[in-house]
Parts: sequence; C-alpha cells; structure tokens
Amino acid sequence: MAVRKPGLIALFDVDGTLTAPRKVVTPKMLEFMGKLRKVVTVGVVGGSDLVKISEQLGKTVIDDYDFVFSENGLVAHKDGKLIGTQSLKTFLGDEKLKEFINFTLHYIADLDIPIKRGTFIEFRSGMLNVSPIGRNCSQEERDEYEKYDKVHNIRSKMVSVLREKFAHLNLTFSIGGQISFDVFPQGWDKTYCLRYLGDFHEIHFFGDKTYQGGNDHEIYDSEQTVGHTVTSPEDTIEQCTALFLAKQAEGP
Ligand SMILES: [Mg+2]
Repeated sequence: MAVRKPGLIALFDVDGTLTAPRKVVTPKMLEFMGKLRKVVTVGVVGGSDLVKISEQLGKTVIDDYDFVFSENGLVAHKDGKLIGTQSLKTFLGDEKLKEFINFTLHYIADLDIPIKRGTFIEFRSGMLNVSPIGRNCSQEERDEYEKYDKVHNIRSKMVSVLREKFAHLNLTFSIGGQISFDVFPQGWDKTYCLRYLGDFHEIHFFGDKTYQGGNDHEIYDSEQTVGHTVTSPEDTIEQCTALFLAKQAEGP
C-alpha cells in the first residue's frame, strides 16, 4: 500500500453520502473508495446498526474501511476489530430508564389522539424511539398521523414536557420522520465517534444532512472536523477527487 497522508482521515456518512438513501452502495462507489483508501485513511459513521450498514455497504465493510462507526460510534471498529461499545442501558442504568419509560407511557396513555396502535417505545441500544401513535401503524395511518401532528404539535409538546421533567438526565430529543422522536444522551450524535480519532489532526467529514437539525450537523460543525456538505454519492466522489486525488496527480 502506498504511503498515506499521516494524520488525515476522510470520514463519511452513509445514507445520502456513500449510498442513495436506504439503498445499497454502487460498484462505482466501492471502486472509488478502494482507490481513495490508497491515498488517505477512510472511515464511515452511520446512525444505523452494523447489520444495516453491512446491508448497505457490503458484508466486508469493517475490512473495507479503516474505521467503521455504527450507531454513531457507540459500536466502533478499527482495522476490522471491535474497539469499543456503549449502550443506553449501561450508561443510564435500569432505574433511570424505568423512570423515563414509565412516565412516557403514562403520558401517551393520557393522550387523546384519533388512533393508537402498538410499540409506543422502541428500545434500541443507543436510544429510545418514542411514538405517540405506535410504530405498528400502517403506512396510511402513518401519513394521517403526520398531518395531525403538524396541526396539533403532539410530538413537540410531548418533547417539551419530557425535556423539563428529565432535565437531570441531560438527554437530547430529536423529532424526525413522520411518527416518532428519538431520545439519547447529550453528545451521542455523530461527534461521539471523534473520541476514537485523537491521532488525526485533519478530519474531513462528508455528509448530506449538515444543516441545523440534520443528523450530520454536530459533526459537520465540530471544531475537530473540516466539514463538507454533499448532495449525493456522485457529489461525494467529485469532492473527494478534487480534494485528495487531483492534488496527488499534480505532485512530483
Ligand atoms: Mg445522510
């Protein structure tokens, strides 16, 4: 392998950056990443778990990149090996979790909304996903709920109550999608993975949702990174070519 620029890493979001949203990576992107990796250290950071990221980027993903951060880095792999894990259960403990879940379920029970289904709280390793209608609703019910929520602000009102009630837990609430919101400890966004990149003085991050409220915003905005906004996987290739490959071609 050619000498790679020391201290520099190119770090990529998955959805909308390396692949089309929720789609599988193209052979063209795989080939490009292989080429890029010869010149710079490469890593990926995605919100999904490793199973989902492997479905999108391929079964060999942990070997294809120098660093793979799934669940925003709560699960971290370096050179194909697991180097760290963190979970909501370990971090908060069952007492605090139970307090939060009990209160939230009571709140939902008292909510007067047109319909309710099932799975009001989904417990994930790095977050709770809370849905007033319940995640078991159909697509049609989901669409209806979204419209209803826009008028009645069910989720935003609920979030302000929970934020105040559980201020001592330092949680972040993120309303996204049509029917739910995520709850996770402060700092458990994509910046979480930066703790593993202390050896790099130049961290280039590429993401599509870098705007305020987007899931790439915090890491894009971080003082530790040089942030790049991309509009598609094709744009990622273009920007990286200009930044890392064109320069090399001009070199001695
Ligand atoms: Mg994205």
